[in-house]
Amino acid sequence: MQPSMFNVRVPLAEIADGDDVFLMNTFTDAQVIVSRDVAGLLDRLTSDAEGGFTSEEQSALATLSEHGFVVSDRQTERGRVEAFFRDVREDTEQLRVTVLTTLQCNFACDYCFQGDHGDYNKFADKMTLETAGRVAEWIEERLDMVAPESFVLTLFGGEPLLNLPVAYYLSERLWNACTARGVRMLVNVITNGLLLTPEVVDRLAPFGLNGVKITLDGDHDTHNRMRPLRGGQGTFDKIIDNVRRVAGKTRISIGGNFDQTSVDSYPALLDFLHGQEFADKLNRVAFKPIIREPKPQPPKGPKGLIPLTAVAGDGRPLNGTCMTSAGAGTSICDNCNFLDEKMAFLRDETKKRGFATSDGVHMGPCEIHRRHAHTIGPDGSLYACPGFTGDKQQSTGHIDGRHDEGRTRAATQFEVLAAWKECNDCAFIPVCAGGCSVAAHTEQGSMHRPNCHKTSFEAGVVSLARDAARELATVN
Ligand code: SF4
Ligand code: SF4
Repeated sequence: MQPSMFNVRVPLAEIADGDDVFLMNTFTDAQVIVSRDVAGLLDRLTSDAEGGFTSEEQSALATLSEHGFVVSDRQTERGRVEAFFRDVREDTEQLRVTVLTTLQCNFACDYCFQGDHGDYNKFADKMTLETAGRVAEWIEERLDMVAPESFVLTLFGGEPLLNLPVAYYLSERLWNACTARGVRMLVNVITNGLLLTPEVVDRLAPFGLNGVKITLDGDHDTHNRMRPLRGGQGTFDKIIDNVRRVAGKTRISIGGNFDQTSVDSYPALLDFLHGQEFADKLNRVAFKPIIREPKPQPPKGPKGLIPLTAVAGDGRPLNGTCMTSAGAGTSICDNCNFLDEKMAFLRDETKKRGFATSDGVHMGPCEIHRRHAHTIGPDGSLYACPGFTGDKQQSTGHIDGRHDEGRTRAATQFEVLAAWKECNDCAFIPVCAGGCSVAAHTEQGSMHRPNCHKTSFEAGVVSLARDAARELATVN
């Protein structure tokens, strides 16, 4: 017997009253508060012979074992983790497809290459209804092949609501396809919120609208500086007005992208949201940093460029999902790239105001590790995850089935993606999987390398320990 490599522990004396220890196993997700003596048994396991335990201690070890804190041997445990990642990859319970209805955007965000900068929108792709028809066919084929219990359609961009005909068409047609097959369908929309009206929500509601995610980049003034219209006009008031009008009709999540110039305004944003009549209708509030490429910025282009976005041979900016949600450091899935210490601060501030938020530990494995999660660009190109849509070289296929050398090469790379295998004995492998592959690709030049934010996971565990200690104190 030996302690699991996925045990993490926080002595409560360091964060709260008491001498007990918070134990968590990231593989089984077991979380317990035990006495120091019981936690100490795990240390003794590595040094003592099994025969050296009293019957009481053996019974405590049996309980720890039941919860995965004690395992038979390392090799078996590693085998289980391999099997876990295989299961995640092949899981057929849910089919997930993110569709980029357009790469156009009506904002001119400070940090984004995309959007209404220069002549970007003139050249940015927009899905036609004809392509949308083929996308729907492609998804219907997958519904038949995979036979999932549920199907999640995420409408994304660019600004997805700039292409409402495609958004409505896909939602309605796929709802009918799912209904005919007995599959539950959910539609999520990730939008900047400017065009989010009750009419849009009412139109999507009958087709499984599950929720809308909106971005606010700080308090009123900060958001207006970070996410203006092209003419510099602020967008905060209009977005809040829209949220007010649709609150109660659908679940609303608030996201936000911060940097060192904006992070201090987030507590004021949280106070503002907390004071709104729709506060209790906000499903989730979670922020993440804008990671700016450490390399020197190119001489031309908008300030604060995140250079994941490819530039075509003619020099025009090309492709790239909305940088509020994907790309070098921010993601549709909230997983990648967090400035560890600021994330922990904002998470605590968010929780203090009573909003549900990410716990900083249960972050993955993200959808790039799932075979039945796809991202489709406006032209029908397929990608392994939304974060790679800025780089056409990373397209893994096309809905029309075309195979060219580049796509085949990219698909092969994603097939063997397992950065976590370089993470040795890290306790966070089951919930991290080696971090965000998009960030690793952009920052380190290889998607196969871990992109490590271990300190953020550690801070997340401390928060969980604090919550557990508080709960225990309430019960007692
Ligand atoms: S690699 Fe994972 S965490 Fe990173 S953008 Fe893609 S899905 Fe999100
Ligand atoms: S990337 Fe870092 S935190 Fe994630 S599993 Fe690897 S070593 Fe652990």
